Amino acid sequence: MKYDVIIIGGSYAGLSAALQLGRARKNILVVDAGERRNRFASHSHGFLGQDGKAPGDIIAEARRQIERYPTIHWAKGRVTDAEGAFGDFVVEIDGARRERAARLVLAMGVTDELPEIAGLKERWGLSVFHCPYCHGYELNQGKIGVIAASPLAIHHALMLPDWGETTFFTNGVFVPDTDQNALLSARGVRIEKDRIEEIAGHADVVLADGRSIALAGLFTQPRLRIASDWIEKLGCTIEEGPMGSTIVTDAMKQTVARGVFACGDVARPAGSVALSVGDGAMAGAAAHRSILFPE
Ligand SMILES: Cc1cc2nc3c(=O)[nH]c(=O)nc-3n(C[C@H](O)[C@H](O)[C@H](O)COP(=O)(O)OP(=O)(O)OC[C@H]3O[C@@H](n4cnc5c(N)ncnc54)[C@H](O)[C@@H]3O)c2cc1C
Repeated sequence: MKYDVIIIGGSYAGLSAALQLGRARKNILVVDAGERRNRFASHSHGFLGQDGKAPGDIIAEARRQIERYPTIHWAKGRVTDAEGAFGDFVVEIDGARRERAARLVLAMGVTDELPEIAGLKERWGLSVFHCPYCHGYELNQGKIGVIAASPLAIHHALMLPDWGETTFFTNGVFVPDTDQNALLSARGVRIEKDRIEEIAGHADVVLADGRSIALAGLFTQPRLRIASDWIEKLGCTIEEGPMGSTIVTDAMKQTVARGVFACGDVARPAGSVALSVGDGAMAGAAAHRSILFPE
């Protein structure tokens, strides 16, 4: 069977696209590998109507609702290759099964490349975060650390005082210039230049000189990686920005490859659940529109 649309990624963005297309009675296949970006966090914040819910519960409820639509089909697995052109795309799942569709929606999210600091990755989503809007409030105005991992660290360091007293660990990665030092000082940010040895306890930063600074939570800047080489083979453009890789789309979430749409974190540099759901709704409607009016 040839589907109208194959959606690659069945999380917030992909399910939102599927909902629009299922409601238009299009034949859809949603392929999902089941590794949401926020699977490390116990609670999700900032998504209207679902604030504070477990990330997996939001997905489970969405999936329950969407399964009511009989033209939506499901495949558990990873897309390992994709090729084709407008009107006829072929997708390979787990290196074996092959499925065809007239349009593709890419909603595969991104992978976070974390700074190599002992003890950091074990605390990712628990006491080490990247998004203050998602996890800043729950630190209850306690002491916060910002660990520099990229030039964007300065933005983190200047933002975080709104959530708690902030220490900026430059860790040999970032050297504030005179203007930045003045801005940090105006925001009351303490600068710690010693190298970080490890993260211990809840969110204790242990420095090379042996000092240990206990904090309520830490923020850092992961590099966003898009993990599939077949995206460029489809003709999509991947842009490298200060946060990492992003698939280029227009406002309708259409990529530069005709008939291929992209939504959610894979197609915007600073994503969230709310933005992914919005992008997915747009990509779903745009894919439908492109089936109706294929010029
Ligand atoms: C630790 C942490 C905490 C966060 N907390 C919050 C929060 O509180 N509030 C908030 O709004 N945002 C939060 N975020 C951001 C949020 O997780 C993302 O913005 C959101 O998950 C993006 O949704 P998405 O559908 O684009 O991608 P994802 O949710 O990452 O889903 C992508 C899906 O596609 C699948 N996939 C990937 N490649 C393939 C493939 N080749 N074939 C098939 N399937 C594939 C994946 O397995 C996954 O199921 C957090 C992120 C992190 C890292």
